[in-house]
Amino acid sequence: CGIIGFTGKLKAQDVLLTGLASLEYRGYDSAGIAYFKDTGKISLRKTVGKVKDLRAICDDDNNSTCGIGHTRWATHGGVTNANAHPHKVGQVALIHNGIIENYHDLATKYDLTDELISETDTEVAAALINKLYEGDPKEALRKAVAEIEGSFAFCVLFKDHPGEIYAVRNVSPMVATYCDDGAFIASDLTAFIAYNKRYFIVPEYHILTMTADGITLEDLDGHSVEPEYMEVNWDV
Ligand code: GLU
Repeated sequence: CGIIGFTGKLKAQDVLLTGLASLEYRGYDSAGIAYFKDTGKISLRKTVGKVKDLRAICDDDNNSTCGIGHTRWATHGGVTNANAHPHKVGQVALIHNGIIENYHDLATKYDLTDELISETDTEVAAALINKLYEGDPKEALRKAVAEIEGSFAFCVLFKDHPGEIYAVRNVSPMVATYCDDGAFIASDLTAFIAYNKRYFIVPEYHILTMTADGITLEDLDGHSVEPEYMEVNWDV
């Protein structure tokens, strides 16, 4: 029900846990994070419960500067640790807000059922993107969103692209920003407003690439699009 992603100069875990806590008002039943380790591997921490329960299973000495975080409001599959996000399949770790209407058909069409360990619609998207991935994250996302029906805000990590976060949405909200600290994305700007008051709404069906050095936005034909920044004019 809430998402946050960060890559940049700060410790990602702090940004993610603080951001998730600020999204608590949206309601949720589980929480989790995924981040790149120094080794280039992706680690997950996730649990049923509150952000404080997630914090309790996180490593205090996690120095990763790139990661994604999620609070889940279960729609498909019960409230279990396995169903909590992020979901990792092969090269891909992913968080999702929304509902994938045709998840069952996609699992059958792409023969994904054996790869699934949860009961969520979301894990089918992770497995689909992994199946379509041939080294170019944006290409995999373009192909995946052409197949997926429903509402989604996805933030995706690809194992062989450390330090990078890819995002795409339809219906489900997502805002992003870039500043000296790095690149932020969230379902609601309260999650990162403490760092930067400038933000833009991620347009539907556009692919956002976030690195410590900047943000790029493309439409599905690969044309680059300038983000339309706005400024929050309330005091925090
Ligand atoms: N449909 C997904 C699930 O049940 C995502 C729910 C959400 O937006 O939190 O896991």
